[in-house]
Amino acid sequence: MKRKKPLKRTPLKRGVPKKGTLSRAKKDCWDAFSLLTKLERSPDGEWNKCYTCDKDIKIGTSDDQGGHLFPKRAYPVHYFHENGVRPQCYRCNINMEGNRNVFIKRMIEEIGQEAYDEMYVHRHDKVKITKKEYEEMTRQYKDRIRQIIER
Ligand SMILES: [Zn+2]
Repeated sequence: MKRKKPLKRTPLKRGVPKKGTLSRAKKDCWDAFSLLTKLERSPDGEWNKCYTCDKDIKIGTSDDQGGHLFPKRAYPVHYFHENGVRPQCYRCNINMEGNRNVFIKRMIEEIGQEAYDEMYVHRHDKVKITKKEYEEMTRQYKDRIRQIIER
């Protein structure tokens, strides 16, 4: 099928929770945390490699994702864990649902079996983060992002 017009892109703003709500505070926190995760691993602040397939990914594009080691909905305790998130391409994160076997294998190589086991054992732990706490976390992540950018 031939298309005369290019496909319309979904505006990024859609689905953003209202300002001042807990879900918005969480989303802002995630945006900062996932960007920090990517910048920390990028040699030039622009490009990364997918943690699970080594594909080159450009930060800020739709191929640039923050993938969770433990699926975030099932294991919210690791949502904002420093070793719970790594840069992933769209294919690994979405189509391959995290490419989990490789993700786990590489994470064990990176942090060691003991640290991984510790996360695994605690994966069902309950966590409750307040709006204030999210806002404070966001401030700290943004400070760290600023330090990387100014380096
Ligand atoms: Zn990948």
